[in-house]
Amino acid sequence: MTRSQDLFTEAQKHLVGGVDSPVRAFKSVGGNPLFISRAQGAHIYDADGKKYIDYVGSYGPMILGHVHPKVLNAVERTVKNGFCFGASTEGEIELAMLVKEAFPSIEMVRFVNSGTEAVMSAIRLARAYTKRDKIVKFSGCYHGHSDFLLAEAGSGLMTYGLPASAGVTKNTAQDTFIAPYNDIQFLKDLFEKYNGEIAAVIIEPVVGNMGVVLPEGNYLKELSALTTSHGIQLIFDEVMTGFRKEFGGVQTLFGVTPDITCLGKIIGGGMPVGAYGAKRELMEMVAPLGPVYQAGTLSGNPVSMAAGIATLNELKEPNTYASLNAVTTRLAEGIRKLATAKNIPMQVAKHGSMITPFFCDGKVTNYDLAKKADTDRYAKFFNLIIESGIFAPPSQFEAWFVSTAHTTKHIDETLDIFDEVMDEL
Ligand SMILES: *Cc1c(COP(=O)(O)O)cnc(C)c1O
Repeated sequence: MTRSQDLFTEAQKHLVGGVDSPVRAFKSVGGNPLFISRAQGAHIYDADGKKYIDYVGSYGPMILGHVHPKVLNAVERTVKNGFCFGASTEGEIELAMLVKEAFPSIEMVRFVNSGTEAVMSAIRLARAYTKRDKIVKFSGCYHGHSDFLLAEAGSGLMTYGLPASAGVTKNTAQDTFIAPYNDIQFLKDLFEKYNGEIAAVIIEPVVGNMGVVLPEGNYLKELSALTTSHGIQLIFDEVMTGFRKEFGGVQTLFGVTPDITCLGKIIGGGMPVGAYGAKRELMEMVAPLGPVYQAGTLSGNPVSMAAGIATLNELKEPNTYASLNAVTTRLAEGIRKLATAKNIPMQVAKHGSMITPFFCDGKVTNYDLAKKADTDRYAKFFNLIIESGIFAPPSQFEAWFVSTAHTTKHIDETLDIFDEVMDEL
């Protein structure tokens, strides 16, 4: 028995499934989840002291790698002066200014504690602003676990073959329409049929939660024009994509301006955080200025703000993204070459420093195509690489994350391991 196995046995007596988030369980790939003792840079160490190159990156936040000295320093300095106060601190202003600098569509920010909270609040705001009830989400997109967004919601549910969550009422579900990603005609028809009833469309503008899936052609621009013409609020959920590929998000990259933006993950540098922002007129509807109530005991807590500020300031340094994206390209290209050489059907989807190797033929452009991927083969691949010291997401339908701590040496080490294990698939 390894120590991870012992801990997992014990954990299952006290924690549901031995985990605090279902994506951490190894249910779809088999085996026991790892217990982690520490991490440093591009590496993570399990409870037995075994070292792995980490491509989970805590599912997004750890873009600078683990325990980055500047982030550590900022956290240590801040935490010494108190953990949280129930009153405002200067860090909230500083982080808000960095977010606004990167996202011109955001004129005012509200910090919350998670991406889930950010999205939930953004939907409430959109409903209040439009005085309409219905919302549209896309199959395979995940926006946190709030009731009205849990239908066909990507990786976590997909991994367990659940269409939606139990415990969501019929009435709640009735207000949510599910649309296929990358299909503008579907939306045109839907908007015609429910003219004047739809408050918001929420989308991962580049999807990370069914694996990485990119928008085709002018999809985002057309989506934006269409929502605007119907008076529908367009919400970009950039919790994962914010600050991932550039100092900004998919909206800055594609030149599409959403009405509301949700952020999380990277902006907290590994500490709990979420944020939503929009133009002033909209944000002024939120309490204490307006009638949309939303609050939080730990919101904008100084430790999360400090970690976020240090992380974003580091990301702002020239060439950070150029080299991060280049290192990731080396990984993606390397996997593609190996798959071709070994005749393994595979699509490596990439957005900046996030990738998904899909075990399937043909490009993945929506949820139905993602579901065609060979999950048994992924499970086999996962088990072989974890044995060889590569920590990747335990699901075919997740993004892998590369950090600025990953060097070409780590990538080449990874590819050498893949070269061996892919012969066994
Ligand atoms: C992770 C994620 C969320 C949820 O964020 P939490 O902090 O886990 O609540 C929402 N939307 C997207 C796109 C995400 O990737």
